[in-house]
Amino acid sequence: MALIVQKFGGTSVGTVERIQQVAEKVKKFRENGDDIVVVVSAMSGETNRLIELAKQVSDDQPVPRELDVMISTGEQVTIALLAMALIKRGVPAVSYTGNQVRILTDNSHTKARILQIDDAKIRADLKAGRVVVVAGFQGVDEQGNITTLGRGGSDTTGVALAAALKADECQIYTDVDGVYTTDPRVVPKAQRLDKITFEEMLEMASLGSKVLQIRSVEFAGKYNVPLRVLHSFQEGPGTLITLDEEESMEQPIISGIAFNRDEAKLTIRGVPDIPGVAFKILGPISAANIEVDMIVQNVAHDNTTDFTFTVHRNDYQAAMAVLENTARELGAREVIGDTNIAKVSIVGVGMRSHAGVASRMFEALAKETINIQMISTSEIKVSVVIEEKYLELAVRALHTAFDLDAPARQAE
Ligand code: ASP
Ligand code: MG
Repeated sequence: MALIVQKFGGTSVGTVERIQQVAEKVKKFRENGDDIVVVVSAMSGETNRLIELAKQVSDDQPVPRELDVMISTGEQVTIALLAMALIKRGVPAVSYTGNQVRILTDNSHTKARILQIDDAKIRADLKAGRVVVVAGFQGVDEQGNITTLGRGGSDTTGVALAAALKADECQIYTDVDGVYTTDPRVVPKAQRLDKITFEEMLEMASLGSKVLQIRSVEFAGKYNVPLRVLHSFQEGPGTLITLDEEESMEQPIISGIAFNRDEAKLTIRGVPDIPGVAFKILGPISAANIEVDMIVQNVAHDNTTDFTFTVHRNDYQAAMAVLENTARELGAREVIGDTNIAKVSIVGVGMRSHAGVASRMFEALAKETINIQMISTSEIKVSVVIEEKYLELAVRALHTAFDLDAPARQAE
């Protein structure tokens, strides 16, 4: 008998019919003898609708404490509906808000962090044979204020509960049947991965794959909670995300290819090549609360150098204004910017034990005559910045070069 935490996202509880389907599913698990804790999101679109209402009465700037009081109600509706649907089917069930469980968080409204979970009540209910349905996305601070965990935060609730209860698995049910080698909309030959490590998933998520909230993956890795991503209404094994990194011959070197179009590039040219210049350039950028991703500094020429970095596209205008100011102060030659870029990354723990992965990547891009503008590497990732219009071509070429394409289907 296992203890399983199952999280159902907004689309999976988006209508009454779907909530009933979820209840049927939970009932089946129950009949197998497993103990089940279910975490649900609000019905799809509901959180957005509530935020919109809040904006209307507050000139787009809702007071964070009150916003949390309101947006936490979306999940309060779905936990009750699911508990009712279960009880109707003869499955004893009880629903709890974050406050009722006591999911204790810090007090940073709309982006609170979980500090502690009181599992006593849940354990007692499980022992009494009940399915426990918990509201995702919310908690309560020391003072009793309702808090929320940031968009997509129900994933984190699921993982945190699984960690607190030492569950055998945390299953994340969603509208895709697992984690893919890359976005199937870009590469039709993308394949579902049976397994991926926390580290790889974290890279995939922070590089743009949107299956799981990043924080939930960090949490799962930290507490070693086996996570499985599955389709809510289709059968299948899904993708298991774990710690283990077994070395097998069949294990591919690269697990996936991530990409994003959300960045922009800024270059300051002809800055003096003296100590402190990088700080003079990036200090004001970080003081303006702009996050920098990739950074490249060229080898100096005539005692001056060029310095390039990328920021989120939304921050491009602000970063440009700051940089132009810095350029005047440093007597730089010019500042140039480019928003037509994209970042493509190959991710895989197999890189640790294989040489030549980066050159294989560069070769594949060269064959398509795609110019690489910037490169950055880490232990399990190589990222390049290229011109945006070549993004899809690059992803497809890399998917093939690293043997990730699904085998062609046999004609039936
Ligand atoms: N309902 C919240 C949101 O839409 C939390 C979640 O769904 O994970 O962001
Ligand atoms: Mg979600």
